[in-house]
Amino acid sequence: MPGSWQVPFAPAIIQRASTCHAHTCQPSVSAFRLHPPPGDTMDMAHPSRPHRPQHTSAPPPTGRRTLLRGAAGFALAAGIAGASAGAALARPASRKPSARDVDYPEAEWVPAAGGNYTGGDRPSDYPVEFVVIHVTQETYKNTLDIFQNPDKQVSAHYVTRSADGHVAQLVREKDIAWHAGNWDYNTRSIGIEHEGWIEEPDKWFTDALYSASAALTADICARHGIPVDRRYIIGHNEVPGADHTDPGPGWDWARYMELVQAASR
Ligand SMILES: [Zn+2]
Repeated sequence: MPGSWQVPFAPAIIQRASTCHAHTCQPSVSAFRLHPPPGDTMDMAHPSRPHRPQHTSAPPPTGRRTLLRGAAGFALAAGIAGASAGAALARPASRKPSARDVDYPEAEWVPAAGGNYTGGDRPSDYPVEFVVIHVTQETYKNTLDIFQNPDKQVSAHYVTRSADGHVAQLVREKDIAWHAGNWDYNTRSIGIEHEGWIEEPDKWFTDALYSASAALTADICARHGIPVDRRYIIGHNEVPGADHTDPGPGWDWARYMELVQAASR
């Protein structure tokens, strides 16, 4: 999710500080023909590197700039990793939600920086076929801050808060958020970030988080005709080419899918 984890020389600490952070989207060769210069992604270039947050990848510009951006993101992530759970409850500044802004009625509209996603007209230009599940490796507030920082080049459509399941929408579903680390999947998916750390599932993956996310996913699937099936509701770690590990082994897929099924009825 957030952060630009394109740090190439990832030291061990990055394993802790990253997961889903953003950088994810790497456009494929064909995508280059359809899009503005999507940037390459260090992830794709170096799949063996430790996972970092990559959800987002924007079409980064040049390798050099990407490195610098990544370094900044790493520093931020490292600092954020120690943030207290209490900080996660802080509400981000945002204007009053508007019915015309959000695709999911329960969501709070907290727009991502315009440069952190690609404007689109889905499903006219690309079909929406997948929901990608992420874990932030950041607090809720810091995740929103990252997506609202145009230097980060990452985003996700939604971010859910651990303590109460509050849902924020940052990118319209018609637009392409940079979260999957795979341009093709970015164009065909909706990304949902979940506040927490994959190393502490019992602490962060609360009942409220699972329930709120499941209701959101059920709504997305219903509106886009996506089957409520694990083939289409996938983890970031299941995106082809992804080197991110979120949502991690502590994410209870069986429970989550039951909740999505129940919310779909
Ligand atoms: Zn992720």
